[in-house]
Amino acid sequence: SPPSLLASAPRVISLANQKGGVGKTTTAINLGTALAAIGEEVLIVDLDPQGNASTGLGIDRKQRLRSTYDLMVGESILSEVAMETAVPRLSVAPSTMDLLGVELEIAGRSDRAFRLRRAIASHVQRPDSIRGRNYSYVLVDCPPSLNLLTINALSASHSILVPLQCEFFALEGLSQLLQTVEQVKHALNPELSVHGIVLTMFDSRNNLAGQVVADVRAHMGDAVYDTVIPRNVRISEAPSHGKPVLLYDFKSMGSQAYLRLASEIIQREKRLRAA
Ligand code: ADP
Ligand code: MG
Repeated sequence: SPPSLLASAPRVISLANQKGGVGKTTTAINLGTALAAIGEEVLIVDLDPQGNASTGLGIDRKQRLRSTYDLMVGESILSEVAMETAVPRLSVAPSTMDLLGVELEIAGRSDRAFRLRRAIASHVQRPDSIRGRNYSYVLVDCPPSLNLLTINALSASHSILVPLQCEFFALEGLSQLLQTVEQVKHALNPELSVHGIVLTMFDSRNNLAGQVVADVRAHMGDAVYDTVIPRNVRISEAPSHGKPVLLYDFKSMGSQAYLRLASEIIQREKRLRAA
């Protein structure tokens, strides 16, 4: 049977949406940084072969000696893969293109949907006292697809955080994603829930954007976070400097929005933990 999710720390949250370019990676990096800035011990698991979360956190490809590929195939344990970043209390398990081959390698195994869950659970049960950290949050940055990597992320998670871009087709594809969440809940991980949806790249100069926010709130209600992430040039510049926006420009609108989102998430997770 699969290793159980632990009631205590860490909370595992997947950033998932099968659409590309909606802000999954940007939110993983900057929400992770904001959570670390307010005292949480955070690990970002880069589960996208593109490795944008790793790059955006300043981890060069040649530094990625062990990666989430090694973790998924069972060649390495989490404390061997996780690397510290320039942000105190923020680590990343980096990815490489090798991750593209993981599906084929694990497809024949009976535990193929639980590879990540097992890796996280064994880290929590036996934290390596020298290199291992006791994470309070693990954020999994998913690829833009509902493939076996994303299924591994969802089966390892307490909750899913869905970034939706404030554009006309924002809700398109959401029902397919929510259907997948229901399937994973039913077959693999009854503890998985959607909390919640974060609207990204809001452009106040675009009249349509306000309408999109209203529509998404009307459809999804409480699942939608109050914080809306603005379209902000500092957010898009930061990754090319290998920095989260909070290190690149702390005072920017983008940084402040991600700090608000982090405190909203902590509130929501606390309520759920208490329930
Ligand atoms: P995903 O991981 O869902 O594919 P990304 O986080 O990589 O999406 O974002 C796609 C692109 O949009 C990136 O170039 C990123 O820098 C940019 N971007 C994301 N969020 C914002 C934002 N709030 N303001 C400006 N640019 C953004
Ligand atoms: Mg991405």
